[in-house]
Amino acid sequence: MSLFEHILEGVPDSIFAMMEAFAADTNDKKVNLSPGIYRDDNAKTWVLPSVQKAREILVADQNLNHDISPQMGNPDLVSVARQITFKDTLSSRIITSMQTISGTGANHFIARLLSDTLQPKTVWLSNPTWENHPKIWTHVNSAIEQHLYPYYDYRTSTLDIEGMISTLKERASRGDVIILQVCAHNPTGLDPSMEDWETIAEVCEEKGIFPVLDSAYQGFATGDADNDAWAIRHFAARSRGTMEFAVTQSFSKNFGLYGERVGVLHIVTRTRGSAAKAESALKTLSRAEITSAPAFGAKVVATILQDQVLREQWQEDLKTMSGRLRHMRKRLYDELIKRNTPGNWAHLLTDIGMFSYMRLSEDQLAILRNTFHVYLLPSSRLSWTGLTSRNVEYVAESIHKVVT
Ligand code: PMP
Repeated sequence: MSLFEHILEGVPDSIFAMMEAFAADTNDKKVNLSPGIYRDDNAKTWVLPSVQKAREILVADQNLNHDISPQMGNPDLVSVARQITFKDTLSSRIITSMQTISGTGANHFIARLLSDTLQPKTVWLSNPTWENHPKIWTHVNSAIEQHLYPYYDYRTSTLDIEGMISTLKERASRGDVIILQVCAHNPTGLDPSMEDWETIAEVCEEKGIFPVLDSAYQGFATGDADNDAWAIRHFAARSRGTMEFAVTQSFSKNFGLYGERVGVLHIVTRTRGSAAKAESALKTLSRAEITSAPAFGAKVVATILQDQVLREQWQEDLKTMSGRLRHMRKRLYDELIKRNTPGNWAHLLTDIGMFSYMRLSEDQLAILRNTFHVYLLPSSRLSWTGLTSRNVEYVAESIHKVVT
């Protein structure tokens, strides 16, 4: 009898499960539209030219070592991360920033810290949200209730801002936490407008809800890193800079550094005293859980953002990635319209970022996968990253056959 026999089997993660199923599929027509990992038009993982150059610089450096980073992380990375996140609002706010194990680590650390300090009764998540948000909060403290706020209107494929605001007004309590995705919402591809963000920030302030702004796609939404950070800077500047909130920042997508696990957690506080306490709590937590964040990817990001030429190249790279995804949106839309495929496809053109919600049923998704070898997540999320000029007609034809 093993000591581990009583372990309850967990529910497999849908993305990893889909990636395994796709790898095992031997059909040469197979198309993977499930993971949120950018691929080029040859369906190959893309190393950003800016990253390629930064890597060459680092590898050629005779002084490159593999020392451990300081407790708050690589200071150069943390400094540039603060810059691209807060820009003009940086100088007027007190912000504690720590390097984390990518966006997942930042989300985990803030959940842990808030659970210990603020002790919220409820954490509010968008309906639907990134599938790891509920897992992280359950893992940190299953006693904190998780409620969904309306976000995606399943009838019209639009943002249900009225539903979101009225639910928060009626049901949220002081001290609750809300997770808000900053841009290129995963999985729906729907983002609030600037006016919507003003209303959301107002409600958070009025109700005393602590916002965690999850920034996993800065630069991916519009191709411009400044545009995509608008909501964060609005939160930082409003009410003459008194709002307290956190930002969880990932460099996985916008630098194509998925496996390097580069991220930063920022906590914006009203006083220096509480900033010092947050820093001390983060150091304790980090020491016990990871000791120190990974070094190499952090050096890559810092090298790029500290160098004018590489930074400009990176801005080009963002445009290349977001531009290709926009182009594929248009291509699939045109192919479906050409076929008179039943359904409302207009949102494919206006959705933002890597994903769209296709509103296909479980049965339709199973046929797509089993008969046509086209893989979407069980939630019906399509990742545009797997679509290429070579497979777009095949995918359109497969969707057409499945829905007619
Ligand atoms: N937040 C959201 C909304 C995401 O979609 C992701 C990536 N899928 C993350 C955070 C964090 O990802 P990572 O840990 O790879 O940085």
